[in-house]
Amino acid sequence: MENNIVYSVVVPLYNEELVIFESYKRLKEVMDKTGEKYEIVFVNDGSIDATRKKAELICNKDRGVKLINFSRNFGHQAAITAGMDVAVGDAIVVIDADLQDPPEVILEMIEKWKQGYEVVYGKRIKREGESFLKKFTAKTYYRILKSMTSVDVPVDVGDFRLIDKKVCAALASLPEKNRYVRGLVSWVGFKQTYVEFVRHERFAGETKYPLGKMIKLAMDGITSLSHRPLIFVNYIGTACSLIGLISTIVIIMRNIIYQHNILDLSLILSLNTFMFGLVFISLGIMGQYIGRIFDEAKDRPMYIIDNIISYRDVDIK
Ligand code: UDP
Ligand code: MG
Repeated sequence: MENNIVYSVVVPLYNEELVIFESYKRLKEVMDKTGEKYEIVFVNDGSIDATRKKAELICNKDRGVKLINFSRNFGHQAAITAGMDVAVGDAIVVIDADLQDPPEVILEMIEKWKQGYEVVYGKRIKREGESFLKKFTAKTYYRILKSMTSVDVPVDVGDFRLIDKKVCAALASLPEKNRYVRGLVSWVGFKQTYVEFVRHERFAGETKYPLGKMIKLAMDGITSLSHRPLIFVNYIGTACSLIGLISTIVIIMRNIIYQHNILDLSLILSLNTFMFGLVFISLGIMGQYIGRIFDEAKDRPMYIIDNIISYRDVDIK
């Protein structure tokens, strides 16, 4: 059995051939300092470069490393969920492979966990080597999300965190597929705290989060934690019909009083375009929710595993 493992470090990997060896080395250095038993769980999220081969090499040499290979790319959130499902430690740490989250911070997280906290998240006080656009959109997004939900979601916090196995079990009991893991961790509650850190530049390679994936993640965050956009659509609709009603009455009265036609075509066209815009925005917001309802109704698994390489027994919870 492997129930004496104290820490599991979950590392999602998507085309990380340039960073995986360095990442493994740094994680090992840090985790050895704990003097306690740990495992590293690599989740290869359908990489199409040499990541799988390199991860298998590490696995063959080090019995403390497990590797989950997905059958294709299912995305970062599915990868960390699979890692948590396989992890057996008393505390589970999720960290990106690219060393933007400094592994040394894990030791501070462990300190807090030992003080009795069940969730210790990493709060980015500074981001280095990221574009102005990324920093700006991230900063704005976290604040919008916070204002939209009654769940206490911390701002400037990614998935770099330590969670107790109790929290991990609570997360595993949530069946939703369009997962926004950091939001769900806030939702499940428990005793939470944070440690601050400076987010460094990527060790090597490019971001694996292009704009499309970022927008998907952002929408997952909002739709999973808030109904406010749907209600907002309602407000827009009400405001528009009121404006439309009042302006129609005013125009009719003016026509009657001044006995001339004040409606010119450009005014009608621009109003029309404006209204169409509002209708499409509203439909789009509903579409975001309906699409997700459809995904949940299909009830497909969140990820499919090709194989798991582990020289210890693996219990999938
Ligand atoms: N990642 C993944 N699947 C994906 C995209 C990313 O497993 O589809 C992993 C990636 O290998 C990295 C982590 O998720 O370990 C965060 O990705 P990245 O560093 O590219 O995101 P950024 O820091 O630029 O937001
Ligand atoms: Mg990164």
